[in-house]
Amino acid sequence: MKGFSDILPPETGRWRVLEERAREVLGGFGFSEIRVPVLERTELFSRSIGEETDIVEKEMYTFTDRSGELITLRPEATASVARAYIEHKMYAFDPMAKLYAIGPMFRHEKPQMGRYRQFHQIDVEVFGISHPMIDAEVMAILMYYLSIVGAKGCALQINSLGCPRCRLPYKEDLQAFLRGHFSQLCPDCQRRMEKNPLRGFDCKVQGCQEVMSKAPLVEGYLCQDCAEHFARVRAFLETIEVPYSVNPRMVRGLDYYTKTTFEVVAEGLGAQDAVAAGGRYDHLIEDLGGGNIPGTGFAIGMERLLLTLPEAPPSRGPSLFIAALGEEAQREAFNLSYRLNLAGVTTMVDYEGRSLKAQMRRANKFGALYALIIGEDELRKGKVILRDMKERRQQEIPLPSVFEEVISWVGGGSSY
Ligand code: ATP
Ligand code: MG
Repeated sequence: MKGFSDILPPETGRWRVLEERAREVLGGFGFSEIRVPVLERTELFSRSIGEETDIVEKEMYTFTDRSGELITLRPEATASVARAYIEHKMYAFDPMAKLYAIGPMFRHEKPQMGRYRQFHQIDVEVFGISHPMIDAEVMAILMYYLSIVGAKGCALQINSLGCPRCRLPYKEDLQAFLRGHFSQLCPDCQRRMEKNPLRGFDCKVQGCQEVMSKAPLVEGYLCQDCAEHFARVRAFLETIEVPYSVNPRMVRGLDYYTKTTFEVVAEGLGAQDAVAAGGRYDHLIEDLGGGNIPGTGFAIGMERLLLTLPEAPPSRGPSLFIAALGEEAQREAFNLSYRLNLAGVTTMVDYEGRSLKAQMRRANKFGALYALIIGEDELRKGKVILRDMKERRQQEIPLPSVFEEVISWVGGGSSY
């Protein structure tokens, strides 16, 4: 299906590295993993992300199941994690929770480089802390993670969208401005102007971009509390020396954000250059029926991150190819191979009873480092041959010590 991909070896190795580093870094910062379902009731997303957003308007995989329930494949994880936090009363002991989730998300978008219909995110959420320090902390974690996995040319952009109190007069002024330029706007922006005028900043149509370049900015409308919060977030970023720039036109495509929002853009990704994005959402938990509990978090797009990283090295072959001739030798090969695998040595045996020449061809084809040859004659003498495929030297080994001898030549530990 378009926009859905198989991830094959050795590519899967790159994914595992990203996931393992994420677990290490987040674990170090006191985060715990949460796993939430890929399906949720549709209303969870329409209520949290917002009816007038791209995601809810046109990107969700929504259908009725066999019991007539309207359900959606999750387009993002924040809403699901927030639902779980509320449903399991995770705030009962203490409102603070630091959680992360890794997994697939689904959006019916036009597939292109960096944009897929099933994609994967590392999603990080902190509930229960309204202090600006945590906004700076999650951004620092994000930038640190990107640096240790080797992402190059990543730039952090931040903005503040204010709270509903200061956004209301801003929205009114923005709407008044847009009404004055109505005929220059695309049909989408015209339609969304009344309910979600901020979306204009994200519109890619040139006419809209020209209008928006003259539009009033939210920074001029921040109430004292929001302005102070934003100033402190910036000061905390400076304290721990995390470089950033303020982008007053970044509005983000989801309705639940309040105050701090941020995005990380990377070089060389073309039009889809945001590898990660997030922000504060102080009313989401309450809107979903939980208490008055603030939140802040981000999601990293794993496919986009991988596009910025070097390609996977080719997979290594087996450590040892075991060539066996005849029924008795095959039984010996089977037994030895099993015991070596348990010891972490990757082996390959020939199951087809091919000729020695054909078996050695396979050993070369798969790039085996060593080969063990168990021939009928040698077996009768209680011997096998161990060959170093690269050095092209070989040695006869007495059968009883072959296991130890192989371990000492090849070493333990898997190469897959
Ligand atoms: P975009 O600007 O690309 O539309 P977005 O604002 O919709 O992204 P978010 O919902 O904030 O993205 O998701 C966070 C991250 O997830 C993005 O920065 C991006 O890296 C990744 N992402 C979002 N949509 C896709 C997609 N369709 N395919 C691949 N990655 C995606
Ligand atoms: Mg999008």
